[in-house]
Amino acid sequence: MAILPIKIMGTPILREPAQEVGEPTHGHRKLISDLFDTMRDAPGLGLAAPQVGVGLRIFVWEVEEAHGAVVDPVIVERSDVTVDGEEGCLSIPGLLYEVPRSDRIVVEGKDENGRPLRIDASDFLARVFQHEIDHLDGVLFIDRLSPDLREEAITRWRDLLLSPEGVTPYSGRTSEVAPEAPI
Ligand code: ZN
Repeated sequence: MAILPIKIMGTPILREPAQEVGEPTHGHRKLISDLFDTMRDAPGLGLAAPQVGVGLRIFVWEVEEAHGAVVDPVIVERSDVTVDGEEGCLSIPGLLYEVPRSDRIVVEGKDENGRPLRIDASDFLARVFQHEIDHLDGVLFIDRLSPDLREEAITRWRDLLLSPEGVTPYSGRTSEVAPEAPI
């Protein structure tokens, strides 16, 4: 079991497109195991490899009773219907915004053993997948806000960074303090 430090906004790798994995190896499976440990410790509902400083197209997720890892994910179908829903991010502790996302997507990729995956995701799971796949493209949820809200979010983030308390990571917070759904 390994809990890895989660990179926060401002770390360059969060803005870089991640590389394709191809055939997952033992090393990738170890990374996936560490991603699960780190996500569950935070706790969060999704975590992408760039958030722990690894520029590979891998993410893990856990929503209600289901969980999984997706390697080299591609969105192959997307609903035209978008819905607003509250999102936080393990890499942007303290900020929560209503973010528009497609209400249903179909994702193809591989599991940790290289077996093909095709997942039809709707509602909150679709939101988590879109958030995580954005991480693999160097996109953060604040980029999906209106220009005014994005500017407000960046100002709030700068204020948090400069405050005497600084940014408090999600990891180790009490459940009373942590919002429900950082992804
Ligand atoms: Zn995130």
